[in-house]
Amino acid sequence: MILDQLTINKARLSERVHKLAKVGKIGETGVYRLALSEEYKEGLELVREWMDEAGLKTRFDHFGNLIGQLEGKNPDEPIHMIGSHIDSQPYGGRFDGSIGVLGGLEVVQTMQENNIIPDRPIEIISFCDEEGHRFGKGLFGSRGILGKLDPDELDRTDKDGVTRKDALKTFGCDPNQLHKSEYDPASLGSYIEMHIEQGPYLEAKDVPVGIVSGIAGPLWLTIELTGFAGHAGSVPMHLRNDALLGASKIVTALNEIVKTDPDAPTVGTVGNLEVFPNGRSIIPERVRFTVDLRDIDKERRDQYEQQLRDCIANVANEIGLQYKIKEDTNNAPKYCNEEIIHSMQKASDRMGMDVPILMSGPFHDALIMADACDYGMIFVRCKDGISHNPMEYATDEDISIGTELLLQTTINMTTSN
Ligand SMILES: [Zn+2]
Repeated sequence: MILDQLTINKARLSERVHKLAKVGKIGETGVYRLALSEEYKEGLELVREWMDEAGLKTRFDHFGNLIGQLEGKNPDEPIHMIGSHIDSQPYGGRFDGSIGVLGGLEVVQTMQENNIIPDRPIEIISFCDEEGHRFGKGLFGSRGILGKLDPDELDRTDKDGVTRKDALKTFGCDPNQLHKSEYDPASLGSYIEMHIEQGPYLEAKDVPVGIVSGIAGPLWLTIELTGFAGHAGSVPMHLRNDALLGASKIVTALNEIVKTDPDAPTVGTVGNLEVFPNGRSIIPERVRFTVDLRDIDKERRDQYEQQLRDCIANVANEIGLQYKIKEDTNNAPKYCNEEIIHSMQKASDRMGMDVPILMSGPFHDALIMADACDYGMIFVRCKDGISHNPMEYATDEDISIGTELLLQTTINMTTSN
């Protein structure tokens, strides 16, 4: 029923989504479009053509972001920004990021065609290197425009030894002019991002779209346990300092800790583990593993982190291990702006939809933008919750409904009537 009431041009949007998917295509449905690569450039140039076609003022900035601007009635008013990214994982899908950029573009193009002039400027932005695969650190474009890059950020290298600095130069950016592409946070009024859910919630609820309540803050730790190697045949059990045994106890404990409250969305994962010397007949001397802990409730996450740290100390003491804990990333969870959520709800009511509110476990450029302005997010259902995988799939219908919601919300937020 909603589909026949769409204001946006579903055919145009779908065609663009599938055309962009051909740039850096791998296999039947996969995408390989690493940040600042040739495929990335080709994809962005295609998006730029479409932005030009939509009558936007377009530019590449020095971070490798693409920006298309629709001027509003009051050019000096804070910008309403809509964005996402078109770079991908090395073995990525067609919809991750892309639908947010192309959906945003469809929104402003529809507004133009219907003579809806926003009170303030609207910018569609395709952020560079959200994924972070190539240089090991993502959200580059969004951190860049807010002046939040690390001091060594440009010296990071990819697997071929190419620095981010050189990759930016090859792309056509001037790394010495980065400051010129920064935004004064006061010039940003609001930020909205539409993204595939990358999880199974909407599918289970049998709804095409959801409104995001906030983005869980990730805490990333690297833990190193050191024991003592020995012959697996001769050292009696009570004399061992087995680092892998310690790691196993900690992995299991983390799993228990995050499940303390079964109704909470807390998640904890050990996704990488290295054992040294890693031999069948040698008691493991050293184990290094990662922890990824996420929650929308910072207080609860802090509490779980403390429990985990206590557990590590206890296990190390029990088995006779040395340990080191390194904090790699610590982002606070960020709640979406209540008014934006309300505006989305109003729009979805008008569209005759009952749209659930859900949290985002994955982070997005919106997590960074949240530091500068109010933000909101729309999620689009994706099949089996699969993402970062060529099997990632969202229907043209669901993407169109999400984009219509993006349009109606944008009209609510940027026009006075
Ligand atoms: Zn993404």
